[in-house]
Order: sequence, then C-alpha cells, then structure tokens
Amino acid sequence: MLSYRHAFHAGNHADVLKHLVETMLLDYLNQKDKPWWYIDTHSGAGFYSLEEGFASKKAEYREGIARLWHANDLPAALARYVNLIKSFNPDGQLRFYPGSPMVAERLMRDEDRVRLFELHPADFELLEDNVCHLRKMAIVQKADGFAGLKAFLPPPPRRALVLIDPPYEVKEDYHTVEKTLKDALTRFATGTYAVWYPCLQRHDSQQLPEKLKQLPIDSWLHVALHVQHPSADGFGMHGSGMFVINPPWTLHAALQEIMPVLVEYLAIDSGADFVLEHVSR
Ligand code: SAM
Repeated sequence: MLSYRHAFHAGNHADVLKHLVETMLLDYLNQKDKPWWYIDTHSGAGFYSLEEGFASKKAEYREGIARLWHANDLPAALARYVNLIKSFNPDGQLRFYPGSPMVAERLMRDEDRVRLFELHPADFELLEDNVCHLRKMAIVQKADGFAGLKAFLPPPPRRALVLIDPPYEVKEDYHTVEKTLKDALTRFATGTYAVWYPCLQRHDSQQLPEKLKQLPIDSWLHVALHVQHPSADGFGMHGSGMFVINPPWTLHAALQEIMPVLVEYLAIDSGADFVLEHVSR
C-alpha cells in the first residue's frame, strides 16, 4: 500500500522536530574533518513547494515551520535549523520546504555521501530530480529501505547517520523498524540511528520507544513533542517522537533548552508538552 504522500505534511510540527534533530546530528558529525554517510530508508520526494500542489491543501506547515519563521529569540540550534530552511527560501518568504534528503544535502561536504530509498514511483522520480546535481555523491534506489539498508552497513567511513522514517500506514511498520534495527546493529553497532514515530492513541505507537529501549544498545535518547491533547474520538496524531541510538553527548543538553521553546511556539492547545529521556551506560 503506497497511498501516503509526504507533500501533504511538509513542514508540519513533526517535520520540525525530525529535521531539527537531523540537523543537530549532522552538525555534530561535521565537527570532525572525517567523512560520513547519510542513509535515508524512507526519503520522500526531497523538496516541496508550500504554495501549490499537495502541501498547500491542508497547509500543515502553518502550524509547524511557519510559527518559527519570524521568531528572533530561539536557542542557537533551533535558530540554526530555521536558518537552514530559510536558505531554501532566498527571498525571505516561506515558499519551499526541504525533506530529509535535502536537509542532508545542504550539510554535506565533498567527501560525504548520501544513500536514499523511496518506494513510491512518483516521489522516487521527484527525489531523483532533486538530488541529481549531487551526481556520484548520491545513490537513489526505488526499493524497500528496510530491506535495502543492510547492503550499506557498515559504511566505509564507519561514521553515519541512518534516518528511519516510515509512514506507519501499515501496523507492521512498527515491528519492522525494530527488526531492521536489530539487524543493523549487528552490522554497524556504532552508527547513529534516528527513528521517527507518530504519537497516536494506539498501542503500537506508544510501545515503540519502549521496545527500542530494549535493543542491545548502551546509549539512546528519546524526545517527543506533543502539540495538543489526544483527541476524544481516539483518532489522529497529537505529536511525534524521535528515538536516537548512539546520540552525540551534546544532544540532550541542547534539547533540554529547545523543547520548552518548541512547545511554546507549536502548541495547539493546553495539552502541549514534551518528553525527553536519555541513557548513556
Ligand atoms: N523522510 C522524509 C522527510 O523527512 O522528508 C519523509 C518520508 S515519508 C514519512 C515516508 C516515505 O516512505 C513516503 O514517501 C513513502 O512513499 C515511502 N515508503 C513507504 N514504504 C517504504 C519502504 N518500505 N521503503 C522505502 N520507502 C517507503
């Protein structure tokens, strides 16, 4: 089933949290003059117009990136992420929003490499167009990212960020995330893995971070942003989370400062709050 199109959600509160964390993780890798790989198992189209097409339909970005656009009191790493999105909007008007592959593209250096998977035929074509200027620095595959990941592990430079961002349209995705990580960790235990998940009133979604904490890992960080109360009818997404395996040691302190600010800017109702947990053994 491939009915999900990320364009409908581009720039929403979930993208803000995801791409903020992605930016912080790649900025950390960039602190060393050694190459990294970025592997995106579920890439989407890579780049979205907010003024036309799917993204303009429900305009979810209005309750996401748009709320941060004119803020001038943001913590440094949050301001850095907003400025990165502004670099795709050179006239200063919020018209375009990059997906996770283009966030990585903006941060990569000559020796860094990206490996991208996308199954939807239309989004795959768009993605190929959006990254074709990277030439040999990028490999884009129309293939299942869960299954394809193993072929790239361990990556030659032994430094990598793997983003796992499935649509969770099918409930098997929760289990497949866990299974994929178990296998990936046997091949490349020291990589940084970032998993996005939706906060829903469903057992699988609530259990996912708990299950990931049971993986054979010494160091993890879990951050979730709730923008509203869970709905009375039990449906819909009231927030989203990121589970990061082998996070940089700086991430927790930076998010401690950022998350209250994100709650303030992105709250839809009084149910807005955040979760931030971290273990390093
Ligand atoms: N990571 C993107 C971003 O942050 O900009 C958004 C990705 S979106 C949440 C999920 C994407 O995964 C959709 O474009 C969907 O077509 C694609 N997809 C679904 N199942 C897949 C699979 N097994 N392997 C690769 N891509 C898949």
